[in-house]
Amino acid sequence: MSGKVFLVGAGPGDPNLLTLRAAELIATADVVATDALVAPEIIARTPKTAELIYVGKRSGAHSVQQDQTNRILIDKAKQGKRVVRLKGGDPFVFGRGGEEAEELAAAGVEFEIVPGISSSIAGPAYAGIPVTHRAHATSLTLVTGHEADETTGIDWEALARMHGTLVFLMGIANLPVIVRKLRENGVPASRPAAVISKATTMQQRTVTGTLENIEQRATGIPTPALIVVGGVVQLHEAINWFESKPLFGKRVVVTRAREQASELKRLLEEAGAEVVQFPMIEIAPPPSFDSLDHVIDSCGDYQWLIFTSSNGVDAFFDRLRHHGKDARCLSGVMIAAVGESTASDLRLRGIEPDLVPQKFISTALLPLLDDDQRGVRTAVIRAAQGRDDLIDELRRRGGEVDLAVAYETRRVTTAAADLHDIDIVTFTSGSTVDNFFEVLPDAKALDGALLASIGPTTSEAIRRHGSKPDIEASNATIAALVEAVINLSRGERSARSAG
Ligand code: SAH
Repeated sequence: MSGKVFLVGAGPGDPNLLTLRAAELIATADVVATDALVAPEIIARTPKTAELIYVGKRSGAHSVQQDQTNRILIDKAKQGKRVVRLKGGDPFVFGRGGEEAEELAAAGVEFEIVPGISSSIAGPAYAGIPVTHRAHATSLTLVTGHEADETTGIDWEALARMHGTLVFLMGIANLPVIVRKLRENGVPASRPAAVISKATTMQQRTVTGTLENIEQRATGIPTPALIVVGGVVQLHEAINWFESKPLFGKRVVVTRAREQASELKRLLEEAGAEVVQFPMIEIAPPPSFDSLDHVIDSCGDYQWLIFTSSNGVDAFFDRLRHHGKDARCLSGVMIAAVGESTASDLRLRGIEPDLVPQKFISTALLPLLDDDQRGVRTAVIRAAQGRDDLIDELRRRGGEVDLAVAYETRRVTTAAADLHDIDIVTFTSGSTVDNFFEVLPDAKALDGALLASIGPTTSEAIRRHGSKPDIEASNATIAALVEAVINLSRGERSARSAG
């Protein structure tokens, strides 16, 4: 069996700009050989069973390393491996992908090219600069800025004559030469120019100006960066959509368990935030399944089943399946769900809950349930750690209530290394708040960070720790929490500009 090499474009930086083909190939690779610049989230897709090799090229030592890289690709393929060679952007746009492909062809190794989204086009796009536009540019020229000194073959006169867009890659160090060459060849000093740094990432920065002042304005800008010259740069002001997102440049902490954080993370990122995951709890099986098994055994004997969280729903149905049963055992049983997400989790399983209180708090069910609970059997499915108010009150009303412990929330010991330059911390439950303040008794890392709470119970927990929430979501949903975070960040911004 002979192996194969895939020269794969990993996109410009934003891990979501990976192609489906690239993701599929990474998932089935034996070897992943990657450039250092490829996003960590993409590299993290490497299967545990695959070998991960960094073949990052560092400037200065190109040729030696390039030989080595070619050697690795060829050797691994000849051992019968599926080798994915990840390259930033598109492999054939200034990526030396052409050279690697030539070597592979010469060595008789089978290979495929998987184009990627190039920073040369996506970078300007994320800066609100269309590389072509009917009113401004009819052509696009990609130029290496790496070789911008006097001796190379760049035809500056031709570049200067074209009224299209010029995009220089690898050119930041040579920006002064690029500007001078264009000017010497007749490009007016007023020609718009932009430098886009770390394009498509949360650290993206765009500096605009003209050939006259771009050098000075872009002083010290971090790499990787690219240079755009041409009339299209003027559109930045009107189209700048990425850097103007409401939470752009904000580092927002998510304390939710990783298993549950995906929606919050997605919505925050969509609003432009850089999300720092700092989960305080993880969801684990309960210490014993006895109480849950008891309820599952006599499922049909209950008048009411109350689910207080999505985790409870998941754990209940997992256990049901474990016993070879399914949702039919709930036929005739009334179902209550605390919170919209718990309700929608039930709906996903084909069950329309009979009762969903407005508030995400189990006692919110009480006014909706009968005052006289005599003869009513209820099972409450929830975490080992949970509030007993609901159960106590139902019993007080004469009901027979069984507690089914479906899962446990456990403390995670997380490293606080990422907790720097935090703008906002989000809290989605009281127990997370407790754990958070316990883990971080001296909240120096959070100096100046604002606290956002999902609802009254969570806010109360924050106050118990001698702090105060800077904002509380208007209702206890993830969407409302994100809305609150956006308002908080807006308020802070306007307060700052007012002060
Ligand atoms: N094959 C890559 C380019 C490789 S050359 C592609 O298609 O994108 C490396 C150069 O690309 C860098 O010097 C820089 O000019 C540019 N570049 C790559 N990623 C970038 C990013 N996220 N932001 C700005 N420029 C980037």
